[in-house]
Amino acid sequence: MVPNRFGNLTVITGPMFSGKTQRLRWYLERRARAKQKVILFRKDTDTRMEITHGPAPCFSSPYFTEETVNESIINLSFGEAISAVGVDEAQFFKVAFLVHVETWRQMGIDVYCSGLARDAQRKDFGWMPQLLSQATHIECLTAVCINCGREATESYSILPMENQVKVGGADSYQALCMTCYSHFMRKNP
Ligand SMILES: [Zn+2]
Repeated sequence: MVPNRFGNLTVITGPMFSGKTQRLRWYLERRARAKQKVILFRKDTDTRMEITHGPAPCFSSPYFTEETVNESIINLSFGEAISAVGVDEAQFFKVAFLVHVETWRQMGIDVYCSGLARDAQRKDFGWMPQLLSQATHIECLTAVCINCGREATESYSILPMENQVKVGGADSYQALCMTCYSHFMRKNP
């Protein structure tokens, strides 16, 4: 007997401005076009989705709360089968999130997570290392270094870092290559 299919976990990572969210949405939109039901979860403090993306998404995009997660699972059990779940800014979610990912995969749902693997101090960010270790596919994107134009792999905080949990844009962060990042950090540690 062949057991039910276990869902894949695709993790999309890379520095700020490397297009992680767009890549995540690309994965979900191509499945939604094939009439598959997909859900994109995002952090409740992240309001950028409405501002930076034009057309209305062809899938639901709730904030990640216990209610919305439970609702997605209830929908599944009522026959409205969800084929894929996306989670944006996965570095911000708490440990229970890893349990949800495992539950979805056991249900045969493919999970796509995008997030920063390391913060502006190059420290591990949230549960991303654990997600990466469980991934069936990993995409490591790069941005363009704002200082020299080479491939950027690091997120540099323009402002002094208060804590890790900051959702920001061009006013707070710059994408830098490792050479420029090291140079900037020596000048402004
Ligand atoms: Zn550079």
